[in-house]
Amino acid sequence: MSFDVQQIRKDFPLLSRTVHGKPLIYFDNANTAQKPRRVIETVDDFYRRHNANVSRAVHTLGEEATSAYEAVRDKLAQFINAKSRDEVIFTSGTTQAINTVAYSYALPRLQPGDEVLVTTMEHHANIVPWQLVAARTGAKVVPAPITQSGELIVEEFIKRLTPRVKLAGVTHVSNVLGTINPVRELAKACRARGIPLLVDGSQAAPHLPIDVQALGCDFYAITGHKLFGPTGTGVLWARRELLDSMPPFFGGGEMIRTVSFDGTTFADVPHKFEAGTPNIAGFIGLGAAIDYVTELGLDRIGAAEHALRDYTNAALKSVPGLRLFGEAKDKAAVFSFLIDGIHAHDLATLLDHEGIAVRSGHHCAHPLMQFYGVPATARASLAFYNTHAEVDAFIAAIAKVRKLLA
Ligand code: PLP
Repeated sequence: MSFDVQQIRKDFPLLSRTVHGKPLIYFDNANTAQKPRRVIETVDDFYRRHNANVSRAVHTLGEEATSAYEAVRDKLAQFINAKSRDEVIFTSGTTQAINTVAYSYALPRLQPGDEVLVTTMEHHANIVPWQLVAARTGAKVVPAPITQSGELIVEEFIKRLTPRVKLAGVTHVSNVLGTINPVRELAKACRARGIPLLVDGSQAAPHLPIDVQALGCDFYAITGHKLFGPTGTGVLWARRELLDSMPPFFGGGEMIRTVSFDGTTFADVPHKFEAGTPNIAGFIGLGAAIDYVTELGLDRIGAAEHALRDYTNAALKSVPGLRLFGEAKDKAAVFSFLIDGIHAHDLATLLDHEGIAVRSGHHCAHPLMQFYGVPATARASLAFYNTHAEVDAFIAAIAKVRKLLA
């Protein structure tokens, strides 16, 4: 089957709208992705026909809601090749997933002088939770360095895996640089030293096939809204033995076996980590998103995105005065850049007037901005539904902005 991008775009209602009278060019996919009709209709159908709480009611609607919701756990387990559906914990996103590991796994274990090793290119979600638990325990968060071209210096990461390190965290794909990190190699080095590795898969899951068993990591975090699903959905995957050893993070309904004032016993995983009413419609919508990308084929998505990446990269490099951040050999279609004499926010605002959505700012990666010595960048992040013609229009709009401001 050929990859007919014009046909695929018809699946995404929002892509046909205009902004400031121009056809929308949506290049902010690393921030959040647009939703296919199938996701929107699934959420709509849930509220119209099936809405009930999960796991609490024996009536028909309750059973329908529970079985649709729990079926998504099976889908996600298959999507990331988890050994068991019980290793798939539903969260509100990557942020909650990483905080769960910080508070349930790291906090009880960290001692003064211990370290959590991360990298300079992490999103704040993979820095700040560790800093919060480090502050309570006397541990510290240590960054592994990267090169100017935005690649992790693997031997420096490995050198820092000393006995003081009790946990390591790395992003699979950088949200700013697009760099794809060699997670298998890092996981192998961590494993050899008995150090658990958490992988932030927020930017990877929408673009690469994920196989947590082959990667060899211990924790993997995904956020649903970047994976063409609803906001407020995400997954923490972890090895069963780690989950069993961790106390619950949130307490409340749904996560207990028995409760009395003499003490409470907890449900088994995954429910031990899922207190309260979840985003039921959102997860059922995420299931539809998984079906959509699976049917499209992650290999075909990858091929389309690689072609877009190479085309955009070459086009941006031809723009005079443009500085590109992130030129790793292995990278996703994410382009952070600055143009001489133009502030990133001005650039993003003027591009918006041309109907082009790019993000500007620090991208929740202050340490990375400090590394490059800039306060902000503009970022264009592409998805499989973007086109070469959109890239041409983007480059033409940059030329227009340069003429106006540079
Ligand atoms: N990690 C990375 C690499 C991200 O790009 C993001 C979102 O921008 C996050 C973590 C946080 O995801 P969420 O806000 O959905 O929890």
